[in-house]
Amino acid sequence: MKAVVVGAGLAGLAVALRLQRQGWKVTVCDNGPAPGGKMNSWRVGPYRFDTGPTLLALPQILRRLFADLGERLEDHLAVEALDPHAEYVFPDGYRLAVPAAWERWVEVVRALEPADVEGLQRLHAVGARIFRLSERTFFLGHPLAPPRLPPLFALRHLPLRHAWGNYACTVERLLRNDRLRRIYLRYPTYVGSSPYLCPATLLVIPYLEHAWGVWKVRGGMYRIVEALAGLARRRGVELLLNTEVTGVEQRDNRVEGVRLASGSRLPADVVVYNGDAAALAALLGETPRVQPAARSLSGVVVLAGLPRKIHGLAHHTIFFSSDYFAEFDELFRLRRFPTDPTVYVNAPDDAALAPPDGQALFIMANAPADPNTSWTPEQVQQATERIFARLERSGIRGIREQAEVFDVWHPGRMAARYLAPGGAIYGDHSHGWRKAFLRPPNRPGRPRGLYCAGGSFHPGGGVPMVLLSAEITARLIQRDWGTW
Ligand SMILES: Cc1cc2nc3c(=O)[nH]c(=O)nc-3n(C[C@H](O)[C@H](O)[C@H](O)COP(=O)(O)OP(=O)(O)OC[C@H]3O[C@@H](n4cnc5c(N)ncnc54)[C@H](O)[C@@H]3O)c2cc1C
Repeated sequence: MKAVVVGAGLAGLAVALRLQRQGWKVTVCDNGPAPGGKMNSWRVGPYRFDTGPTLLALPQILRRLFADLGERLEDHLAVEALDPHAEYVFPDGYRLAVPAAWERWVEVVRALEPADVEGLQRLHAVGARIFRLSERTFFLGHPLAPPRLPPLFALRHLPLRHAWGNYACTVERLLRNDRLRRIYLRYPTYVGSSPYLCPATLLVIPYLEHAWGVWKVRGGMYRIVEALAGLARRRGVELLLNTEVTGVEQRDNRVEGVRLASGSRLPADVVVYNGDAAALAALLGETPRVQPAARSLSGVVVLAGLPRKIHGLAHHTIFFSSDYFAEFDELFRLRRFPTDPTVYVNAPDDAALAPPDGQALFIMANAPADPNTSWTPEQVQQATERIFARLERSGIRGIREQAEVFDVWHPGRMAARYLAPGGAIYGDHSHGWRKAFLRPPNRPGRPRGLYCAGGSFHPGGGVPMVLLSAEITARLIQRDWGTW
């Protein structure tokens, strides 16, 4: 029996490996020149950059994928826990590092604002509660069924004080200190959403970070893709790069294969779509329904290779803008790149990524994902200037001047490379609890034989979630088709 996976993103690779193990003959098609989708890399001279994810959460989900494939993660990858998790730099120059251990973080908060310790514990408790409930009713209750409303309504009515309100209101009610508020308000951006518009259920994100840590992969995150793609090739999965799928062929409401941009076709009993949910309709010959205002955030990413290290950068450093609310208003209501963006810098201290004493910097600011807006070179230049203006105001200078290699990714480039409308990184945003919980299903039901896995489908975006998405999809296929 033959399966075609459309997209060699992380979920595409994971589902391909799982299906191969179930006995399917698997072909993966990706329009890009290298596997990995958004988890990708740029190599130039002695520099090696991750162009996508830089932070690994919940490594146990990755470990489970290797275990399910009969492998040990340690034989393929070196993952290391970070301590501190990140360093935050405020507009007045104040720096705050978040230690890995919860007890130490509580002590940092006590020193900063004793009155906030109780609120911090309550935020953590809400996150823990959401995690335990969603683990049972959402993530694990789900593998054999597409999202259904009744369990979600049940969740909605649980006596979870604070959990169903607005995220920012909840944080601001429980924490008084403006610096702590800022730190907590940033977490919803991990799923491309605004803290001012999403539900407090996303407090599960900071909880997960403190419960299971923040991790890095030695040699860069792209090692994950190299390990999975290598394993897939060795196990006989066919990987077709520079191969865009332009249609899903169907007869009598059942998939028959896919059509390629080259004009040829690949027959298949099952098609797993790993692209953006908003682009699926077009492949099925239906009218696409992309809602620009519903898209999650995109970003402007600057990659800079320096022969000397810049001081003042932790593995993850976040330089906050002067007005966080105004920044999100620009991103989501005015739909423009912020005048003063919050800037994230990843500065890995890893000999495999830069020459001795050098540094491969990944610098990112959020940007709106609007399929109706094209990015002109002037806009890209302006966004880059604003990113460096924020860094320079925060005391980080000399990056552009020293850079031996330099590249900029912007929403238009992401849209074209990942075939994701507007360059949205996480499909649609998670504003409102329905949007947060009712992601498009892993088995749309029509046509039969079509399945979906990836960041814009259930259960959501980010490395651990897309690996779960692949796991759920592979289990659905196994239940529907058996093992060969
Ligand atoms: C700049 C950036 C930073 C990020 N940072 C983090 C982070 O620190 N931590 C984290 O956990 N996550 C992060 N993410 C998100 C994370 O990368 C994604 O959620 C995840 O990698 C998405 O995987 P996916 O399986 O959904 O596939 P994708 O990565 O979306 O890949 C899908 C692939 O399918 C291809 N495709 C689509 N349609 C077709 C078609 N018709 N024919 C052929 N090929 C097709 C696409 O081009 C793409 O190559 C980041 C993403 C970006 C872009």
